[in-house]
Amino acid sequence: MPNLSERVGTFTDSVIRRMTRISNACGAINLSQGFPDFDPPKPLLDALAKAAYAGPHQYSITFGAQNFRAALAQKISKTLDRAIDPETELCVTCGSTEAMMTAMMTVVNPGDKVLVFSPFYENYGADAILSGAEPIYIPLVPPTYDFDLHLIEAGFREGAKAIVICNPSNPCGKVFTRAELTAIAALAIQYDAFVITDEVYEHMVYAPHTHTAMASLPGMFERTLTCNSLSKTYSVTGWRLGYVCGPAWVIDGARKVHDFLTVGAAAPLQEAAVAGLTLPESYYDELRQLYTQKRNLFCEGLDRIGLVHNVPQGTYFVMIDIQPFLDLPQFQGYSDLQFCEWMIKNIGVAAVPGSSFFREPVNHLIRLHFARQQGTLEEALRRLEKMAALLA
Ligand code: GLN
Repeated sequence: MPNLSERVGTFTDSVIRRMTRISNACGAINLSQGFPDFDPPKPLLDALAKAAYAGPHQYSITFGAQNFRAALAQKISKTLDRAIDPETELCVTCGSTEAMMTAMMTVVNPGDKVLVFSPFYENYGADAILSGAEPIYIPLVPPTYDFDLHLIEAGFREGAKAIVICNPSNPCGKVFTRAELTAIAALAIQYDAFVITDEVYEHMVYAPHTHTAMASLPGMFERTLTCNSLSKTYSVTGWRLGYVCGPAWVIDGARKVHDFLTVGAAAPLQEAAVAGLTLPESYYDELRQLYTQKRNLFCEGLDRIGLVHNVPQGTYFVMIDIQPFLDLPQFQGYSDLQFCEWMIKNIGVAAVPGSSFFREPVNHLIRLHFARQQGTLEEALRRLEKMAALLA
């Protein structure tokens, strides 16, 4: 038989999504792949039911249904503090996953360098490979996940065409401050580079931290491809609705890439999602409160049972330090992946090994998420308490 492409030999399937499959097979509480176990807001469900009979059921305009783009533009205009033109400055995609891939394909030629923070959401590695980009990794150093601006400047000096910023940051929960973003923006302008952002957790930011959109900073809309999705904000990860927002000449390119990648996002779901985009401001406050409660419940629970973890400034992820376990005789030689597999089978809780996110050889962290109903989080904590007892 002929060989498969060399490309597919250079990356693995997503470990995040693999952990979900193992978790399902074992009936564990799945705190690995981040998605909520509660329903979207009722107005979206009602609108979906209506769309089932009223349609549309055929293709939408390839770069997004007009009414969906108009509603999106209204919401984004508030965040970016500028009037977004739905006719030219938006491309609707199948989730932020396609948005990021499209953004990368739009600005990067094979062989171009791209700056990526490490730890990073694992898709960016595959995005770089599929678009031919060569990542230069900028460490976000645990436990504070700070970075060295000099390394970013050095990367731009090496000719990096773009920098990828996940803000709030998956998996480490860092929320980039306005000062940090301003400093990165100045370098992007100085070295004439693009910024590609992934801001899917924009509404999961915990006080006193606040979210600043890169494209809202002076001079940055012009060179930023803002990627986002409705998945997290409206608890509809399965609807696969995302977008790239940017200046018209960039979006013109992105629309071409998107057109041939997927043709378009699901038309009836775009129709239904307008009901989400037009929810009042109070919806986002309540969402933030809900996730703040979940974060506090989960982090306080981890403190109580004695597991060492970071406290995320944003997102719904927590990193737990498993080094104390790896030091026990029964886990000698275990990788973080083997530890996660052991956890699923023996503790009944699924997590993602930290090594899936780090470029550096980090093997002592695992990622858990808390987008779960209170009872599920409490049961997960009871199970983790049994695990913590191994350290006693
Ligand atoms: N962003 C979520 C995570 O990191 C899920 C992403 C996905 O599987 N598409 O777990």
